[in-house]
Amino acid sequence: MTIYAKGVVFEGVDFDNPNHWRLEEYVKRGGYAALKKILNEKITQDEVIAEVKTSSLRGRGGAGFPTGLKWSFMPRNFPGQKYLVCNTDEGEPGTFKDLDIIVSNPHALIEGMIIGGYAMGITVGYNYIHGEVFEAYERFEEALEEARKAGFLGDNILGTDFCFQLHAHHGYGAYICGEETALLESLEGKKGQPRFKPPFPASFGLYGKPTTINNTETFASVPYIIREGGQKFLELGKPNNGGTKLFSVSGHVNRPGNYEIPLGTPFADLLEMCGGMRGGKKLKAVIPGGSSAPVLPAEIMMQCTMDYDSIAKAGSMLGSGAVIVMDETVCMVSALERLSYFYHEESCGQCTPCREGTGWLYRIVHRIAHGEGRPEDLELLASIGDNIAGRTICALGDAAVFPVRGMLKHFRSEFEYMIEHKKSQFAALS
Ligand code: SF4
Repeated sequence: MTIYAKGVVFEGVDFDNPNHWRLEEYVKRGGYAALKKILNEKITQDEVIAEVKTSSLRGRGGAGFPTGLKWSFMPRNFPGQKYLVCNTDEGEPGTFKDLDIIVSNPHALIEGMIIGGYAMGITVGYNYIHGEVFEAYERFEEALEEARKAGFLGDNILGTDFCFQLHAHHGYGAYICGEETALLESLEGKKGQPRFKPPFPASFGLYGKPTTINNTETFASVPYIIREGGQKFLELGKPNNGGTKLFSVSGHVNRPGNYEIPLGTPFADLLEMCGGMRGGKKLKAVIPGGSSAPVLPAEIMMQCTMDYDSIAKAGSMLGSGAVIVMDETVCMVSALERLSYFYHEESCGQCTPCREGTGWLYRIVHRIAHGEGRPEDLELLASIGDNIAGRTICALGDAAVFPVRGMLKHFRSEFEYMIEHKKSQFAALS
């Protein structure tokens, strides 16, 4: 996928240079300077965590949890092994940014993880990479080898007594393995199914040991924060929404791709960067944060800025930053049918409300989309949603319900029309 605009993660990357991802090029653009700074200036673990807190870096995987706070949960004096895990199991429909990071700037992630290991006193890390990608996995393995050979990774890093081992792990291609506890189960060689929480991974994680899990983009943002300072990172964005963020824009725009822009950028500006609407059509709606985020109609979306707080206030989620743009020809019933099928298909089946409820949601939306809807179906969808959300082991149940609620809130009349007339007012989603 093409990367069009650059912020912290892709700063200085010359994509025209075929070696842009290699260690030599990364070092030329300031790479590993943050790690050197920490080790040479003997910056303490607390100081590193404080810098990350100052930056207001929030988890880029979807939840948006403050990274510095998460790092501070890791027990300091735990007597056994602790683990650091990177979640590169990117599988949310519409999201395609993390694989671009490990293909185009893998050392930013590696350096970020080494710094994370230092800050939390962790000596072993894993990067869990989505199972259906091969080039990205091999690229990351190669980058790891470069870092080891150069003394940035492994035993006695840069001649100090700090040691950090980092391994790549190829996942199994299941969407649910992106849920952090399912990922840990999978990493342990078991079936990738989410665990009951609590206990949380900070106390009972990989192999039952304290574990911190962050997203790829989150780790890749850390070197900049340490090198340039948390305050500078914060000021790139807006309060509580520090830095730049990658947005994977797909759908009916002229230039779909990854756009790394300051948090707080108006959505209208992002749309303009994407070359506007394809074919000069009118914007109808946007799913602003991956398929589980409730859809927002154009008139609301055009008032939003692209940051966690603005999108939440509008009634949706920034999530992973996957922006799915839909034009005026889109039939929302068909769009919801696709989304509902996805969650039904990807449910791990462990708990009844999700296993049965996602299938039920899908079958009802399917019959509406195929002209067989019943007058009571919309109430039934809402009621099933209420019996799934908040009643499952992991958030996939909620993720299946949010798109249904968003569609019924903003585009109910389309569903009603289709139930009554047995056909859509719009062309199918192209
Ligand atoms: Fe599995 Fe769904 Fe339950 Fe999550 S909510 S544990 S995906 S059945």
